[in-house]
Amino acid sequence: MNTANDLLELQQIDLDILRNRKLLDNLPEASNLQLIRNQQKELARKTTKITGLLKDQYIESDENDQKKSALTTKAQEINNANATLSDYRLIQSNNAELDRIAKRVEKIDFLQKSVDAEILRLEELRDKSNQIKESLDAREAVLLNELKERVESLKTEVANLAARREALVEQLPPDLYEQYRISCKQHAHIGVGKLEGRSCSGCGVELQQSQLDILRRGEDISRCPVCKRLLVVRK
Ligand SMILES: [Zn+2]
Repeated sequence: MNTANDLLELQQIDLDILRNRKLLDNLPEASNLQLIRNQQKELARKTTKITGLLKDQYIESDENDQKKSALTTKAQEINNANATLSDYRLIQSNNAELDRIAKRVEKIDFLQKSVDAEILRLEELRDKSNQIKESLDAREAVLLNELKERVESLKTEVANLAARREALVEQLPPDLYEQYRISCKQHAHIGVGKLEGRSCSGCGVELQQSQLDILRRGEDISRCPVCKRLLVVRK
């Protein structure tokens, strides 16, 4: 068992766990889903407005129908009465009333035309909104599924890393692990460096010959004279 290797693997695992956790908090799948949900909300708001306007138009249309039907009935009654009347003045007065009724019916027909046009326009808008809703709902389902799968896979990865980490910590001398832990806290999660050529991989600084000589004469795991991180001199 190689302690220096274990230490470097522990460092890599800790960085991987950190990266995965950050990713979990910031998944692009989650932002895409949020985007769709905002669109769904906005569409629902518009659809509610369209439905309300449509309801008003239906009510107005029904009222026009009722008014027209009442006027038609009334005209029918006057016509029936006229057929039995012989009083010329009465017939004339009834005919004047029939004219007024005809004008009112004409006016209702005229108003109803714009109601019909508005109903048509709103129904088209409603149908279009329903189509958009269907496609947004389908997209949401896909994204939700993608997000769940991604979260699941990242969580499994983190769990596997954590298990491997536990085994490594078990293998390391407790004192070294404690030094690593403190060094990580002091150096933004990178507690251990590697001597690569003449440089410490932790701080990237090229060491002086005298510093290198001291390190090479010493232990496999030492300290970087510059950044003070744990330094794996040789594996
Ligand atoms: Zn260093």
